[in-house]
Amino acid sequence: MTKSNILKVRIRKYHLKDSNFSLDVDLNIPSTGVTALFGPSGSGKTTLLRCIAGLEKNQQSELSLSNEFWQTNKISLPAHKRPIGYVFQEANLFPHLTAAENLQFAIKRADKSQSVISYSEVIRLMDIEEILPQYPSQLSGGERQRIAIARALLIRPKLLLMDEPLAALDDSLKKEILPYLEAICHSSKIPIIYVSHSLDEVIRLADHMVVLEKGRVVEQGETQFLLGKLGTFFSRHKDASVVITGIITEQSAQWGLSWLHFDNQDIIVKQGNEKIGDQLRLRIQSKDVSLSLSPQEDSSILNRLTVIIDDMIKDPKDPSMVMLRLLAGSTPILARVTALSTHNLALSKGQTVIAQIKSVALLR
Ligand code: ADP
Ligand code: MG
Repeated sequence: MTKSNILKVRIRKYHLKDSNFSLDVDLNIPSTGVTALFGPSGSGKTTLLRCIAGLEKNQQSELSLSNEFWQTNKISLPAHKRPIGYVFQEANLFPHLTAAENLQFAIKRADKSQSVISYSEVIRLMDIEEILPQYPSQLSGGERQRIAIARALLIRPKLLLMDEPLAALDDSLKKEILPYLEAICHSSKIPIIYVSHSLDEVIRLADHMVVLEKGRVVEQGETQFLLGKLGTFFSRHKDASVVITGIITEQSAQWGLSWLHFDNQDIIVKQGNEKIGDQLRLRIQSKDVSLSLSPQEDSSILNRLTVIIDDMIKDPKDPSMVMLRLLAGSTPILARVTALSTHNLALSKGQTVIAQIKSVALLR
Protein backbone atom coordinates (compact mmCIF):
# COMPACT_ATOMS: atom_id res chain seq x y z
CA MET A 1 0.00 0.00 0.00
CA THR A 2 1.50 3.28 -1.05
CA LYS A 3 0.88 6.15 1.27
CA SER A 4 -0.73 8.30 -1.41
CA ASN A 5 -3.54 5.78 -1.99
CA ILE A 6 -4.91 6.16 1.48
CA LEU A 7 -8.21 7.84 2.32
CA LYS A 8 -7.19 10.50 4.82
CA VAL A 9 -9.87 11.77 7.15
CA ARG A 10 -9.05 14.48 9.67
CA ILE A 11 -11.99 16.03 11.42
CA ARG A 12 -11.24 18.48 14.20
CA LYS A 13 -13.86 19.06 16.92
CA TYR A 14 -16.81 19.09 14.56
CA HIS A 15 -19.89 20.09 16.59
CA LEU A 16 -23.31 19.05 15.35
CA LYS A 17 -25.87 21.84 15.53
CA ASP A 18 -28.37 21.58 18.44
CA SER A 19 -26.35 18.81 20.03
CA ASN A 20 -23.55 18.34 22.56
CA PHE A 21 -21.97 15.85 20.23
CA SER A 22 -18.60 16.52 18.65
CA LEU A 23 -16.55 14.41 16.28
CA ASP A 24 -12.76 14.44 16.44
CA VAL A 25 -10.99 11.83 14.34
CA ASP A 26 -7.75 11.40 12.47
CA LEU A 27 -7.83 8.31 10.28
CA ASN A 28 -5.84 6.80 7.45
CA ILE A 29 -8.11 4.28 5.79
CA PRO A 30 -6.37 1.68 3.60
CA SER A 31 -7.04 1.96 -0.10
CA THR A 32 -8.13 -1.64 -0.47
CA GLY A 33 -10.22 -3.95 1.63
CA VAL A 34 -13.04 -3.36 4.03
CA THR A 35 -12.71 -1.09 7.04
CA ALA A 36 -15.42 -1.75 9.61
CA LEU A 37 -16.62 1.22 11.60
CA PHE A 38 -17.85 -0.11 14.89
CA GLY A 39 -19.22 1.51 18.04
CA PRO A 40 -22.29 1.97 20.21
CA SER A 41 -25.36 3.80 18.97
CA GLY A 42 -24.76 7.57 19.05
CA SER A 43 -20.95 7.23 18.84
CA GLY A 44 -20.86 9.21 15.58
CA LYS A 45 -20.56 6.54 12.89
CA THR A 46 -23.24 8.02 10.63
CA THR A 47 -21.95 11.55 11.25
CA LEU A 48 -18.47 10.45 10.19
CA LEU A 49 -19.81 8.92 6.96
CA ARG A 50 -21.84 12.10 6.30
CA CYS A 51 -18.69 14.20 6.74
CA ILE A 52 -16.83 11.98 4.26
CA ALA A 53 -19.74 12.19 1.80
CA GLY A 54 -19.88 15.99 2.07
CA LEU A 55 -23.32 16.06 3.69
CA GLU A 56 -21.79 17.67 6.81
CA LYS A 57 -19.09 20.23 6.33
CA ASN A 58 -16.62 22.13 8.40
CA GLN A 59 -13.57 24.03 7.40
CA GLN A 60 -11.30 22.40 9.97
CA SER A 61 -11.71 19.07 8.18
CA GLU A 62 -9.29 17.65 5.71
CA LEU A 63 -10.32 14.85 3.44
CA SER A 64 -8.41 13.30 0.59
CA LEU A 65 -8.34 10.09 -1.39
CA SER A 66 -5.18 9.27 -3.35
CA ASN A 67 -4.06 12.87 -2.85
CA GLU A 68 -7.28 14.18 -4.42
CA PHE A 69 -8.63 16.73 -1.94
CA TRP A 70 -12.36 16.82 -1.22
CA GLN A 71 -12.21 19.09 1.80
CA THR A 72 -9.60 21.51 3.12
CA ASN A 73 -9.90 24.98 4.59
CA LYS A 74 -9.97 26.26 0.97
CA ILE A 75 -11.62 23.46 -1.02
CA SER A 76 -15.04 21.96 -0.45
CA LEU A 77 -16.18 19.54 -3.13
CA PRO A 78 -20.01 19.35 -3.12
CA ALA A 79 -21.52 16.00 -2.14
CA HIS A 80 -22.75 15.15 -5.66
CA LYS A 81 -19.24 15.60 -7.09
CA ARG A 82 -17.60 13.20 -4.64
CA PRO A 83 -17.00 9.78 -6.26
CA ILE A 84 -18.79 7.88 -3.52
CA GLY A 85 -21.35 5.06 -3.47
CA TYR A 86 -23.53 5.25 -0.35
CA VAL A 87 -25.75 2.44 0.94
CA PHE A 88 -28.07 3.31 3.81
CA GLN A 89 -29.84 1.17 6.38
CA GLU A 90 -33.03 1.28 4.32
CA ALA A 91 -32.88 1.16 0.53
CA ASN A 92 -34.10 4.59 -0.62
CA LEU A 93 -35.11 3.63 -4.15
CA PHE A 94 -37.40 5.84 -6.25
CA PRO A 95 -40.82 4.20 -5.72
CA HIS A 96 -42.25 5.26 -9.12
CA LEU A 97 -39.35 3.66 -11.05
CA THR A 98 -38.66 -0.02 -11.64
CA ALA A 99 -35.50 -1.59 -10.23
CA ALA A 100 -33.91 -1.35 -13.71
CA GLU A 101 -34.85 2.35 -14.03
CA ASN A 102 -33.42 3.02 -10.57
CA LEU A 103 -30.16 1.49 -11.77
CA GLN A 104 -30.23 3.59 -14.99
CA PHE A 105 -30.15 6.69 -12.80
CA ALA A 106 -26.88 5.54 -11.28
CA ILE A 107 -25.40 4.66 -14.67
CA LYS A 108 -26.09 8.21 -15.92
CA ARG A 109 -24.24 9.56 -12.91
CA ALA A 110 -21.35 7.10 -13.25
CA ASP A 111 -17.80 8.32 -13.49
CA LYS A 112 -16.98 7.00 -16.98
CA SER A 113 -13.25 7.27 -16.34
CA GLN A 114 -13.58 4.58 -13.68
CA SER A 115 -14.12 1.04 -14.87
CA VAL A 116 -13.99 -0.76 -11.58
CA ILE A 117 -16.97 -3.01 -12.23
CA SER A 118 -19.20 -3.68 -15.26
CA TYR A 119 -23.00 -3.65 -15.39
CA SER A 120 -23.20 -7.38 -16.10
CA GLU A 121 -20.79 -8.11 -13.25
CA VAL A 122 -22.94 -6.10 -10.80
CA ILE A 123 -26.12 -7.86 -11.97
CA ARG A 124 -24.42 -11.22 -11.58
CA LEU A 125 -22.86 -10.47 -8.18
CA MET A 126 -26.14 -9.20 -6.73
CA ASP A 127 -28.19 -11.86 -8.56
CA ILE A 128 -30.90 -9.36 -9.57
CA GLU A 129 -31.51 -10.13 -13.27
CA GLU A 130 -34.98 -11.51 -12.63
CA ILE A 131 -36.22 -8.71 -10.39
CA LEU A 132 -35.13 -5.81 -12.63
CA PRO A 133 -38.66 -5.22 -14.11
CA GLN A 134 -40.26 -4.96 -10.64
CA TYR A 135 -41.18 -1.81 -8.71
CA PRO A 136 -39.66 -1.40 -5.22
CA SER A 137 -43.04 -2.09 -3.56
CA GLN A 138 -43.10 -5.52 -5.26
CA LEU A 139 -39.71 -6.50 -3.81
CA SER A 140 -38.76 -7.96 -0.43
CA GLY A 141 -36.59 -5.90 1.92
CA GLY A 142 -33.56 -8.02 1.01
CA GLU A 143 -34.19 -7.63 -2.74
CA ARG A 144 -34.56 -3.84 -2.38
CA GLN A 145 -31.28 -3.71 -0.49
CA ARG A 146 -29.53 -5.73 -3.22
CA ILE A 147 -30.78 -3.19 -5.80
CA ALA A 148 -29.53 -0.35 -3.57
CA ILE A 149 -26.09 -1.96 -3.33
CA ALA A 150 -26.05 -2.51 -7.12
CA ARG A 151 -26.94 1.16 -7.61
CA ALA A 152 -24.08 2.27 -5.35
CA LEU A 153 -21.65 0.09 -7.33
CA LEU A 154 -22.92 1.32 -10.73
CA ILE A 155 -21.96 4.90 -9.86
CA ARG A 156 -18.44 3.48 -10.30
CA PRO A 157 -17.34 5.04 -7.03
CA LYS A 158 -13.81 5.40 -5.78
CA LEU A 159 -15.10 4.79 -2.27
CA LEU A 160 -18.07 2.77 -1.01
CA LEU A 161 -19.80 3.75 2.24
CA MET A 162 -22.25 1.29 3.79
CA ASP A 163 -24.19 2.39 6.86
CA GLU A 164 -25.59 -0.70 8.60
CA PRO A 165 -26.91 -2.09 5.31
CA LEU A 166 -28.37 -5.18 6.99
CA ALA A 167 -29.69 -3.62 10.20
CA ALA A 168 -33.28 -3.17 8.96
CA LEU A 169 -33.55 -6.77 7.75
CA ASP A 170 -34.68 -9.74 9.82
CA ASP A 171 -32.25 -12.56 10.54
CA SER A 172 -33.25 -14.77 7.61
CA LEU A 173 -32.88 -11.87 5.13
CA LYS A 174 -29.53 -10.99 6.69
CA LYS A 175 -28.33 -14.53 6.05
CA GLU A 176 -29.63 -14.28 2.48
CA ILE A 177 -27.83 -11.02 1.69
CA LEU A 178 -24.55 -11.50 3.58
CA PRO A 179 -23.01 -13.76 0.89
CA TYR A 180 -23.65 -10.98 -1.70
CA LEU A 181 -21.88 -8.48 0.53
CA GLU A 182 -19.01 -10.92 1.03
CA ALA A 183 -18.71 -11.28 -2.74
CA ILE A 184 -18.40 -7.53 -3.34
CA CYS A 185 -16.19 -6.96 -0.33
CA HIS A 186 -13.77 -9.65 -1.45
CA SER A 187 -13.75 -8.71 -5.13
CA SER A 188 -13.81 -4.93 -4.76
CA LYS A 189 -10.77 -2.92 -5.74
CA ILE A 190 -11.96 0.21 -3.98
CA PRO A 191 -11.97 0.95 -0.26
CA ILE A 192 -15.18 0.14 1.57
CA ILE A 193 -16.20 1.62 4.91
CA TYR A 194 -18.76 -0.65 6.49
CA VAL A 195 -20.70 0.46 9.57
CA SER A 196 -22.05 -2.38 11.64
CA HIS A 197 -23.16 -3.35 15.12
CA SER A 198 -22.71 -7.01 14.41
CA LEU A 199 -19.51 -8.74 15.44
CA ASP A 200 -20.44 -11.59 13.11
CA GLU A 201 -20.60 -9.30 10.06
CA VAL A 202 -17.33 -7.59 11.00
CA ILE A 203 -15.54 -10.92 11.39
CA ARG A 204 -16.76 -12.07 7.98
CA LEU A 205 -16.21 -8.87 6.05
CA ALA A 206 -13.62 -6.57 7.57
CA ASP A 207 -9.86 -6.48 7.05
CA HIS A 208 -9.42 -3.40 9.24
CA MET A 209 -11.46 -1.93 12.04
CA VAL A 210 -12.04 1.45 13.59
CA VAL A 211 -13.89 1.62 16.90
CA LEU A 212 -15.61 4.90 17.77
CA GLU A 213 -16.84 6.01 21.17
CA LYS A 214 -18.38 9.43 21.79
CA GLY A 215 -16.99 10.79 18.53
CA ARG A 216 -13.42 9.63 19.26
CA VAL A 217 -11.41 6.70 17.88
CA VAL A 218 -10.66 4.25 20.70
CA GLU A 219 -9.20 1.38 18.66
CA GLN A 220 -8.01 0.89 15.12
CA GLY A 221 -6.01 -1.75 13.28
CA GLU A 222 -6.08 -5.05 11.49
CA THR A 223 -9.16 -7.13 12.34
CA GLN A 224 -7.11 -10.20 13.28
CA PHE A 225 -4.94 -8.17 15.64
CA LEU A 226 -7.81 -6.26 17.30
CA LEU A 227 -9.94 -9.36 17.82
CA GLY A 228 -7.06 -11.01 19.69
CA LYS A 229 -6.55 -8.11 22.09
CA LEU A 230 -7.82 -8.06 25.69
CA GLY A 231 -9.66 -5.18 27.30
CA THR A 232 -11.47 -4.14 24.12
CA PHE A 233 -15.17 -4.09 23.35
CA PHE A 234 -14.64 -7.26 21.28
CA SER A 235 -12.93 -9.26 24.00
CA ARG A 236 -15.84 -8.48 26.36
CA HIS A 237 -18.44 -9.55 23.80
CA LYS A 238 -20.23 -12.84 24.53
CA ASP A 239 -19.11 -14.10 21.11
CA ALA A 240 -15.49 -12.92 21.48
CA SER A 241 -13.50 -14.72 18.80
CA VAL A 242 -10.27 -14.68 16.87
CA VAL A 243 -9.78 -15.17 13.16
CA ILE A 244 -6.87 -17.27 11.93
CA THR A 245 -5.64 -17.41 8.34
CA GLY A 246 -3.83 -20.51 7.17
CA ILE A 247 -3.10 -22.79 4.22
CA ILE A 248 -4.54 -26.26 3.67
CA THR A 249 -1.53 -28.60 3.66
CA GLU A 250 -3.05 -32.05 4.07
CA GLN A 251 -6.37 -33.82 3.59
CA SER A 252 -7.78 -37.17 4.55
CA ALA A 253 -10.61 -38.51 2.40
CA GLN A 254 -10.95 -41.43 4.81
CA TRP A 255 -11.82 -39.17 7.75
CA GLY A 256 -13.23 -36.23 5.75
CA LEU A 257 -10.80 -33.78 7.34
CA SER A 258 -8.38 -31.03 6.23
CA TRP A 259 -5.28 -29.70 7.99
CA LEU A 260 -4.94 -25.93 8.10
CA HIS A 261 -1.37 -24.81 8.72
CA PHE A 262 -0.51 -21.44 10.30
CA ASP A 263 2.42 -20.14 12.31
CA ASN A 264 4.03 -23.62 12.74
CA GLN A 265 0.74 -25.03 14.03
CA ASP A 266 -2.04 -27.13 12.53
CA ILE A 267 -5.77 -27.03 13.05
CA ILE A 268 -7.96 -29.86 11.80
CA VAL A 269 -11.21 -28.87 10.12
CA LYS A 270 -14.07 -30.76 8.56
CA GLN A 271 -13.39 -31.08 4.85
CA GLY A 272 -15.49 -28.90 2.58
CA ASN A 273 -14.71 -28.07 -1.04
CA GLU A 274 -11.27 -26.61 -0.22
CA LYS A 275 -8.15 -28.06 -1.82
CA ILE A 276 -4.52 -28.41 -0.76
CA GLY A 277 -2.82 -25.04 -1.15
CA ASP A 278 -6.01 -22.99 -0.56
CA GLN A 279 -5.80 -20.11 1.88
CA LEU A 280 -8.67 -20.13 4.34
CA ARG A 281 -9.83 -18.13 7.34
CA LEU A 282 -11.39 -19.67 10.36
CA ARG A 283 -13.04 -18.33 13.45
CA ILE A 284 -12.44 -19.68 16.94
CA GLN A 285 -14.83 -18.53 19.64
CA SER A 286 -13.33 -17.94 23.08
CA LYS A 287 -16.05 -20.07 24.69
CA ASP A 288 -14.93 -23.06 22.59
CA VAL A 289 -11.39 -23.00 24.00
CA SER A 290 -10.55 -24.83 27.23
CA LEU A 291 -7.18 -25.30 28.90
CA SER A 292 -5.27 -28.17 30.40
CA LEU A 293 -1.79 -28.47 31.89
CA SER A 294 -0.90 -31.64 30.00
CA PRO A 295 -1.92 -33.05 26.61
CA GLN A 296 -5.04 -35.16 27.19
CA GLU A 297 -4.48 -37.86 24.61
CA ASP A 298 -7.57 -39.69 25.85
CA SER A 299 -9.90 -36.83 24.94
CA SER A 300 -12.10 -36.78 21.82
CA ILE A 301 -11.03 -33.24 21.05
CA LEU A 302 -8.85 -33.20 17.92
CA ASN A 303 -7.40 -29.73 18.15
CA ARG A 304 -4.87 -29.28 20.92
CA LEU A 305 -2.33 -26.51 20.59
CA THR A 306 0.63 -25.78 22.82
CA VAL A 307 0.29 -22.12 23.75
CA ILE A 308 1.73 -19.55 26.14
CA ILE A 309 -0.53 -17.49 28.38
CA ASP A 310 0.17 -13.93 27.31
CA ASP A 311 -2.37 -12.14 29.48
CA MET A 312 -5.51 -12.75 31.52
CA ILE A 313 -8.25 -10.50 32.88
CA LYS A 314 -11.47 -10.99 34.81
CA ASP A 315 -14.66 -10.28 32.93
CA PRO A 316 -15.79 -6.95 34.50
CA LYS A 317 -19.44 -7.88 33.96
CA ASP A 318 -19.15 -11.45 35.23
CA PRO A 319 -16.40 -11.94 37.85
CA SER A 320 -16.86 -15.72 37.71
CA MET A 321 -15.26 -15.72 34.26
CA VAL A 322 -11.74 -14.92 33.07
CA MET A 323 -10.61 -14.10 29.55
CA LEU A 324 -7.14 -15.29 28.59
CA ARG A 325 -5.01 -14.22 25.66
CA LEU A 326 -2.96 -17.18 24.47
CA LEU A 327 -0.20 -17.18 21.90
CA ALA A 328 0.17 -20.07 19.47
CA GLY A 329 3.49 -19.00 17.99
CA SER A 330 2.70 -15.32 17.49
CA THR A 331 -0.99 -15.91 16.72
CA PRO A 332 -3.38 -14.81 19.48
CA ILE A 333 -6.25 -17.03 20.61
CA LEU A 334 -8.77 -16.01 23.27
CA ALA A 335 -10.10 -18.44 25.87
CA ARG A 336 -12.99 -17.77 28.21
CA VAL A 337 -12.87 -20.01 31.25
CA THR A 338 -14.17 -19.88 34.82
CA ALA A 339 -12.19 -18.03 37.48
CA LEU A 340 -12.38 -21.24 39.53
CA SER A 341 -10.53 -23.20 36.81
CA THR A 342 -7.79 -20.58 36.56
CA HIS A 343 -7.42 -20.86 40.35
CA ASN A 344 -7.48 -24.69 40.42
CA LEU A 345 -4.91 -24.95 37.61
CA ALA A 346 -2.90 -22.04 39.11
CA LEU A 347 -2.71 -20.41 35.68
CA SER A 348 -0.40 -17.45 35.34
CA LYS A 349 1.14 -15.23 32.69
CA GLY A 350 4.05 -16.77 30.80
CA GLN A 351 2.96 -20.34 31.52
CA THR A 352 2.87 -22.94 28.73
CA VAL A 353 -0.45 -24.80 28.58
CA ILE A 354 -2.52 -26.85 26.15
CA ALA A 355 -5.47 -25.13 24.49
CA GLN A 356 -8.21 -27.57 23.52
CA ILE A 357 -10.42 -26.23 20.79
CA LYS A 358 -13.89 -27.75 20.72
CA SER A 359 -14.97 -26.36 17.37
CA VAL A 360 -13.89 -24.02 14.61
CA ALA A 361 -15.90 -22.37 11.84
CA LEU A 362 -14.53 -21.87 8.35
CA LEU A 363 -15.22 -18.39 7.02
CA ARG A 364 -14.26 -18.62 3.34
P1 ADP B 1 -24.28 6.53 15.24
O1 ADP B 1 -24.45 6.46 13.76
O2 ADP B 1 -22.97 6.03 15.72
O3 ADP B 1 -25.41 5.88 15.97
P2 ADP B 1 -24.73 9.37 14.88
O4 ADP B 1 -23.61 9.84 14.06
O5 ADP B 1 -26.03 9.16 14.21
O6 ADP B 1 -24.29 8.07 15.68
O7 ADP B 1 -24.99 10.41 16.04
C1 ADP B 1 -23.96 10.96 16.83
C2 ADP B 1 -24.56 11.94 17.82
O8 ADP B 1 -25.06 13.08 17.15
C3 ADP B 1 -25.69 11.38 18.65
O9 ADP B 1 -25.51 11.85 19.96
C4 ADP B 1 -26.93 11.98 18.03
O10 ADP B 1 -27.92 12.14 19.01
C5 ADP B 1 -26.42 13.30 17.48
N1 ADP B 1 -27.10 13.70 16.22
C6 ADP B 1 -27.11 13.00 15.09
N2 ADP B 1 -27.77 13.68 14.11
C7 ADP B 1 -28.17 14.84 14.66
C8 ADP B 1 -28.92 15.97 14.18
N3 ADP B 1 -29.38 16.03 12.93
N4 ADP B 1 -29.13 16.98 15.05
C9 ADP B 1 -28.69 16.92 16.31
N5 ADP B 1 -28.00 15.89 16.82
C10 ADP B 1 -27.75 14.86 16.03
MG1 MG C 1 -25.91 5.51 12.55
